[in-house]
Amino acid sequence: MSQNSDPAAAPPAARSAGLFWLQVVALLGLGVGFIGLPFAVLFTGGRPLGSAFTWDFSMALGFSALALVAVQFALTGRLKWLTRPFGADIVYLFHRYLSWGAVAIMLAHFGILYIWHQPALGVLNPLDARWELTSGRVALGCFVLLILTSQFRKLVRLRYELWRGLHLVLAIIGFVAAVLHVLGVGNYTANPDKRWLWAGVTLAWLGLLIWVRLWRPWQLTRNPWRVVRNTEHRGGVHSLELTPEGASLRRWKPGQFAWLSIGHSPFVLKEHPFTISNAPEHGPNLVFSIKPLGDDTAALIKTEPGAIAHVDGPYGAFSVDHVPQAGGFVMIAGGVGITPILSNLHALVAREDPRPVILFYANPDWESVSFREELDAMRHKIDLTLIHVLDDPPDDWRGESGRIDKDMLARHLPGQSRDWPHMLCGPAPMTEAVRKALGALGVPTHRIDYEIFELV
Ligand SMILES: Cc1cc2nc3c(=O)[nH]c(=O)nc-3n(C[C@H](O)[C@H](O)[C@H](O)COP(=O)(O)OP(=O)(O)OC[C@H]3O[C@@H](n4cnc5c(N)ncnc54)[C@H](O)[C@@H]3O)c2cc1C
Repeated sequence: MSQNSDPAAAPPAARSAGLFWLQVVALLGLGVGFIGLPFAVLFTGGRPLGSAFTWDFSMALGFSALALVAVQFALTGRLKWLTRPFGADIVYLFHRYLSWGAVAIMLAHFGILYIWHQPALGVLNPLDARWELTSGRVALGCFVLLILTSQFRKLVRLRYELWRGLHLVLAIIGFVAAVLHVLGVGNYTANPDKRWLWAGVTLAWLGLLIWVRLWRPWQLTRNPWRVVRNTEHRGGVHSLELTPEGASLRRWKPGQFAWLSIGHSPFVLKEHPFTISNAPEHGPNLVFSIKPLGDDTAALIKTEPGAIAHVDGPYGAFSVDHVPQAGGFVMIAGGVGITPILSNLHALVAREDPRPVILFYANPDWESVSFREELDAMRHKIDLTLIHVLDDPPDDWRGESGRIDKDMLARHLPGQSRDWPHMLCGPAPMTEAVRKALGALGVPTHRIDYEIFELV
């Protein structure tokens, strides 16, 4: 009998919900405190120039932007304690929006000086300008370029790997230039008790960089995995089964993902995120079910047994274990978006969980439905209602077809399911449409959880 089905599980569930919100509030508080710190520092103690409010305000904005950039590194540094409560996709999304905020603050810092204190900006020509001011302009240029290349990567057809390398290089140059700018300008840093603050921010950032790009890859090289099986499924999906050559993955939950690299050193930026599609109960082996959508996934599905792999994980929060108090589950998958749902279902089966699950699974046609037989078999082991939805159904099809919309959901969802968690994973347009349809059916927003297969 599963832990979740046990009525005695209620108090731990309540505790874990409390802990979750405590973590959320603590992390948000930490972030806001870190970014607001420059204002606190600015308005306490001596102000070197004792000058106009516009000047002081502009300086505080500059420092805040720098703190925000340091936070940005933490957001994408795959820190498990940071991604656990929110989910890695949400943290990356946050990173994306926050980066616009950081650049807006930098531009405001520059704009205020330009309007009210133009002489302080000196000349633009780097040959004649003061180095610390040129440094500031280089930083601003790097961060603007970072945002533009991220926002328009697909439009300008920048390869993902190239973009990723460029992103890292621009971020490092931008941050170093910004710190040099702060130290060179010296306002508000000349004071020793404030200098430590900027030294601290810089050291924290440097430490994070070393940890993420050197220490962690080095640890991965010491814990290799070996591919033991490559199984092809309908729809072109291949499942790679990996066995640990060193330590196994610790404390992973169904629905979580890991960064996988096969045939490359972990020091190279060649790893990709994939859901672990089996359940922790099936460990220590891990299964990654991969659909070839680009160059690297096309190469990965051809992996021969015996190949060495590196696994960095687990990450993510798209898990039935995050909602232990749920009375049942509504799951909605499109195409390869089935992988985290498959993992969660495997866990429910392994635990003989009696709670009802209603799964909508959308695919182009009947022959491309990956894991069709596996899911069908699960219907006999747990209380699973399986609703296949096809774009292009066969002539004798009696099931659902077309887009998943409000009417289709209403046909299959019982009234009480409104309070169950609704777990969505699929193409972005489908996820968006289903979220709206669920909202229209009265499902509260906090009951809708979704996994995005894109982290930028
Ligand atoms: C949390 C998560 C879980 C995922 N789980 C699965 C899964 O179980 N099965 C599956 O088939 N796919 C999964 N994906 C998608 C998979 O990571 C991408 O399809 C894969 O990275 C594409 O790489 P490519 O070089 O073949 O394609 P490309 O054509 O190079 O890339 C296609 C798109 O995938 C994204 N992408 C490419 N490389 C990376 C990278 N290194 N890191 C992040 N995003 C990248 C980019 O948005 C890019 O535009 C998951 C993605 C995420 C974020």
